Amino acid sequence: MNRQENLRRLEQKAPYDLIIIGGGATGCGTALDAASRGLKVALVEQNDFAEGTSSRSTKLVHGGVRYLEKAVRKLDRTQFDLVREGLHERALLLHNARHLARRLELITPLYSWHEIPYIFSGLKLYDLLAGSRRLGHSRLLSRSETLRRLPGINARGLKAGVLYYDGQFHDARLALALALSAESLGAAICNHLKVTGFLNQDGQISGVIAKDRFTAQALKLKARGVINATGPFCDQLRGLDDPQAKPLLTTSSGIHIVLDKAHFPASAGLMIPQTDDGRVLFALPWENQVLIGTTDEPAQLSEHPCPLEKEIDYLLHHLANYLAKPLTRQDIKAAWSGLRPLVSDPDAADTAELVREHLIQTSASGLVTICGGKWTTYRKMAEDCLDHALRTFPLAADHRECRTKNLAILGAFDYSDDLTRQLENDFAVAGDIADYLCRNYGDQAPKILQCSDQDARQRLHPEHPVLNAEILYSIHCEHAQRAIDVLARRTPLALIDQRAAVQSSEKVISIMAKELNWSEQRCTEERQICISRLRKAL
Ligand code: FAD
Repeated sequence: MNRQENLRRLEQKAPYDLIIIGGGATGCGTALDAASRGLKVALVEQNDFAEGTSSRSTKLVHGGVRYLEKAVRKLDRTQFDLVREGLHERALLLHNARHLARRLELITPLYSWHEIPYIFSGLKLYDLLAGSRRLGHSRLLSRSETLRRLPGINARGLKAGVLYYDGQFHDARLALALALSAESLGAAICNHLKVTGFLNQDGQISGVIAKDRFTAQALKLKARGVINATGPFCDQLRGLDDPQAKPLLTTSSGIHIVLDKAHFPASAGLMIPQTDDGRVLFALPWENQVLIGTTDEPAQLSEHPCPLEKEIDYLLHHLANYLAKPLTRQDIKAAWSGLRPLVSDPDAADTAELVREHLIQTSASGLVTICGGKWTTYRKMAEDCLDHALRTFPLAADHRECRTKNLAILGAFDYSDDLTRQLENDFAVAGDIADYLCRNYGDQAPKILQCSDQDARQRLHPEHPVLNAEILYSIHCEHAQRAIDVLARRTPLALIDQRAAVQSSEKVISIMAKELNWSEQRCTEERQICISRLRKAL
């Protein structure tokens, strides 16, 4: 379906039971929950799905080791419950999106003897809270075992290590898979469509006014209920409803940098529990590179936040203590920044002290806002939001109970570990390509290869397993509208190697121009967006 048809369909299907604003983890998860309960849903996103915070996370599915530390230090029951809930959701996510999420070994290297009992017992407690859903048993590693499992780490003064387990996932593709799963259950989904106002009837919100960001065409979409799931932007939307509304959020930025695997060729991740300013730092294997993050700096709201020099320096400086080889700016292959939507606590002096819990609030005119939380708990947030919406709006859902606990996400239905070998045999593709396609598309991977000619089966860039065929697939099956949608979210190229993404942008634009009938002017605009986003680091 092309964009014009999609917009027409979006208008024709109105009125909706629910319109959900925001296509990040929260909005896509909420749309899927609503569609799976049999509600008539529309999901609208001002940029691309997951273009906000939800493609800029550390990509960990976790209970939150750091919250656990707080729980122990403050003997705070709420924090324990938060960790337990995160661990429960971790298990569900790893099962329901098993092509996009997997177990990851993490190791904390220990450089002083007195740390060992503290860290080890903390991680044992993490296992205990996960109960039967734990992903493995945490254990103490000898110095030599730690060095063997973490090649590239600084050996000087190393005493031991502690091994534990969490999950790792592909955030941008999970958000998209949630939106597409909702679509397959009847939801209307549309990206690059910005909500600019609300429709009102008798003082109650009765729909949204949304503007197509390509043509400026305004759409009026009616609904029984409207949900504001705009993450860091939620106060902006609340302001459109009620200019006097007090802010619910503060935002802080967190950046990541990506290095070549040669700097840290470990298959396990490195978890630094406490930097000298008290933060947690990770160096994780991801898409055949090393992902390092993150920072925590108070930040202004922006659609495209950029990593600050001081944030990059911070990561390089702190990581230098843990890696054997020194790092320089030139070693960075990609960097990006994301904004944390943090539920405000006026008494907290530091954003790292704010609790990452979600909040659901209804305004006097009936706008339901859901914000806060973390990626790992998107499903529970959506469940709570829908339960709340069913109490708030006059909705006749086929199913009043949540159905997402055991709902396989698109790509996971027929996914099995044999799929990689099957792709290699059936389509004669290289092992790294088969592996990459399976991990990103799950049981949809054969579709990409089935409909592709010889050129389509070529690599988009010689150093990465991304294929030209994915460009066609993402246009026709995944709502990609811009070249940067393909480079930064349908494929991970821009997030792992910005130079390769710049080099590939011309090919992406030429294929999209042909398929979507772009004018020369549109191609120039796409070129400018790609270059400026990639140069400024997304
Ligand atoms: P967003 O992803 O920002 O989505 C909101 C969307 O609303 C945006 O796409 C925006 O464009 C859209 N929008 C705004 N205004 C409008 C409008 N007017 N009309 C239409 N659409 C609009 N969590 C984990 O579980 N694991 C991690 O490892 C992890 N790491 C993190 C690392 C960092 C640096 C950060 C910042 C967060 C991390 N998180 C992690 C938290 C997690 O990423 C966020 O909680 C989650 O992505 C928030 O999703 P969201 O949908 O609420 O917000």
